[in-house]
Amino acid sequence: MTSIKGVKRFIAGAVCPACGLSEKIYVQRDQSGESRHCVSCGFEERKPEDPLTSNPGEWSSVRLPDK
Ligand SMILES: [Zn+2]
Repeated sequence: MTSIKGVKRFIAGAVCPACGLSEKIYVQRDQSGESRHCVSCGFEERKPEDPLTSNPGEWSSVRLPDK
């Protein structure tokens, strides 16, 4: 147990967007910020560095042209 990096914090009720299971998502915090991880399927997602400067529009769904 020598490679402890950051702090892991599980999110109650959080659902993994990849495998759909709940109670599997934890947030890991380190020097560079926070990231979300799923212990079930290995999914991971980096949080935006600064929520104040991130554009909410970035995360909205993309509307594809209708063919
Ligand atoms: Zn998952």
